[in-house]
Amino acid sequence: MQAKVLKNILSVNEEMAERNRGVLDSKGVFVINVMSSPGSGKTSLILATIRRLKGRVRIGVIEGDISSSIDAEKVSQEQVPVVQINTGGQCHLDAGMINRALDNLPLDNIDLLFIENVGNLVCPAEFKLGEDKKAMILSVPEGDDKIYKYPLMFTIADVIVVNKIDLLPYTEFDLEAFSQAVKGINQKAAILAVSCTTGQGLEDWVSWITSNLQPQ
Ligand code: MG
Repeated sequence: MQAKVLKNILSVNEEMAERNRGVLDSKGVFVINVMSSPGSGKTSLILATIRRLKGRVRIGVIEGDISSSIDAEKVSQEQVPVVQINTGGQCHLDAGMINRALDNLPLDNIDLLFIENVGNLVCPAEFKLGEDKKAMILSVPEGDDKIYKYPLMFTIADVIVVNKIDLLPYTEFDLEAFSQAVKGINQKAAILAVSCTTGQGLEDWVSWITSNLQPQ
């Protein structure tokens, strides 16, 4: 019974995600759904990307959080359009929330839209939002075993960004073993190692984005 209810919720969500895709495609907006645990660096990566693509790509951001608008305030300081969604306890964004947020964004003036999902490695993996690509961030201090604990998130990702690689010398994180584990369950995902603190690897991330952007 419970499985049936969840299936219905997901199919209603999927229809709305398709509708979002239609709107976003018609406006030529490329969308990346950014997912990770709390504190892995979603906002830091988005901010670093905005700074590197300034003047080249027009960026907008939807910030999802259970509560507060701290991240949205940080993003708006970069002079890009941002909409905050507070889920009021829900552990993920859904397509209906995104649909309402799109009404409050100047889509004609946006080439690339980041959706920062709620920090969680479980629920966001189940809910499509109408995105073009799913980016998953794993930070080094979380450990390289998360792929075994939350396999769905690693399976659906189009790109896996390992963040905070400046901390590698202080942890047991094995980047090579992690990459092999990813390839075992997801051959299509690009794996990028970065540090938003030092800037290392961010050029690869920016190249991954620009190579995916639709021709304007
Ligand atoms: Mg954040």
